[in-house]
Amino acid sequence: MAVGLGESFAREKDGRDPLARFRAEFYLPTGQIYLDGNSLGPMSRRSEASTLRVLDVWKSRGIGGWLEGDPAWFTLAEELGGRMAPLVGAAPDEVVVAGSSTTNLHQLLATLYQPEGRRRKILADAPAFPSDLYAIRSHLRLRGADPEGDLILVGSEDGRTLSERAIVGAMADDVALAVLPSVVYRSGQLLDLETIAREARARGVLIGFDCSHSVGAVPHRLDDWGVDFAFWCSYKYLNGGPGGVAGLYLNRRHFGTAPGLAGWFGSRKGRQFAMGPDFEPAEGAGGLQIGTPHVLSMAPILGALEVVAEAGIDAIRRKSLELTAYLRALIEGDLAGHGFDFATPAEDHRRGGHLAIVHPEASRICRALIDEGVVPDHRPPDIVRMAPVALYTRFEDCREAVRRLGSIMDRRSYENYPTERGLVP
Ligand SMILES: *Cc1c(COP(=O)(O)O)cnc(C)c1O
Repeated sequence: MAVGLGESFAREKDGRDPLARFRAEFYLPTGQIYLDGNSLGPMSRRSEASTLRVLDVWKSRGIGGWLEGDPAWFTLAEELGGRMAPLVGAAPDEVVVAGSSTTNLHQLLATLYQPEGRRRKILADAPAFPSDLYAIRSHLRLRGADPEGDLILVGSEDGRTLSERAIVGAMADDVALAVLPSVVYRSGQLLDLETIAREARARGVLIGFDCSHSVGAVPHRLDDWGVDFAFWCSYKYLNGGPGGVAGLYLNRRHFGTAPGLAGWFGSRKGRQFAMGPDFEPAEGAGGLQIGTPHVLSMAPILGALEVVAEAGIDAIRRKSLELTAYLRALIEGDLAGHGFDFATPAEDHRRGGHLAIVHPEASRICRALIDEGVVPDHRPPDIVRMAPVALYTRFEDCREAVRRLGSIMDRRSYENYPTERGLVP
């Protein structure tokens, strides 16, 4: 056991943890240490309650729920957007909860990507979430640009991390727009969003961030940073439930830009039921909605956001950094010699909510961990992701997870698993 990081340290940290009471808000399987909240956050009692409330309105009032639900379903997307806005540092009308991350990126590209003259390229990162690249290429194709030649991908210089300097260096005068991650989903690296946004604006490049891996884990100041747009999912650190509806941010300097993909729920609310042939879009982010809101997939988010708001994003971030630092120190100390390395930068300000642990046997180690009651996830070829989440993970859980990992390594029990991967890694 690494000096000073043992059981008594973990107990003491848990005993003094200002967020300790939130653990009881969640359903966590007994005997399991859940470290996969960066893929799917667990269900909270508040989400269960808010979902049952929405179901009850449907049961008792039928169509009346559109206006009489609490909150009314008709404006639920705007209402939830307003409640999510503080998590991204935006005004309430700059955020709407609609669609999925990928469809929101589609809508934002359809609205904001305006290739003109030489400025027609889109900048992204090579390790981007694949769906983002699929979406970007489809817009290049739809506008008659070259889906390969007009997509600039910034790679990693050290094979692990992205460099802000390289990203900014790629913002040439033929780049119209950039889509970058806040936290890189594989490595867990947190980018310097403020610098990237400032440099993008100085170069006339529209800047958007995929915040799927940072919303609910890291505070944001999208307005202050001058970010043009952002999108994120609600089922990871926000614990909004499987298929939970996503978030979209549109900086108010773009209010009034015609939505690229028009649909009736993007209408000015007072005019929607005029049902005229001409679309009258709402001013703010709400104008980028397309069809009927997915009310039942928004219901759990109502409760989930209460938990995050009560805990406070700054306290969540503080504890999250301590948990990931602790987990890393335990692995470095107790498991030295087992061949583990880290893709996540060590510095606090460059780390999101999870730790990306590198090992050539990552896939089999992951399966062995799951059988030992520790739930991480695997990103091929060689990454084990572990997310100790401030709202429900204890320091003691980190210690116990590393103890079980150590036992797997000592016994080499991962060698009992076949090397091929399952459908969902
Ligand atoms: C999880 C995740 C998404 C999810 O996209 P969906 O369209 O909601 O399925 C997008 N981007 C990143 C970086 C993610 O981690």
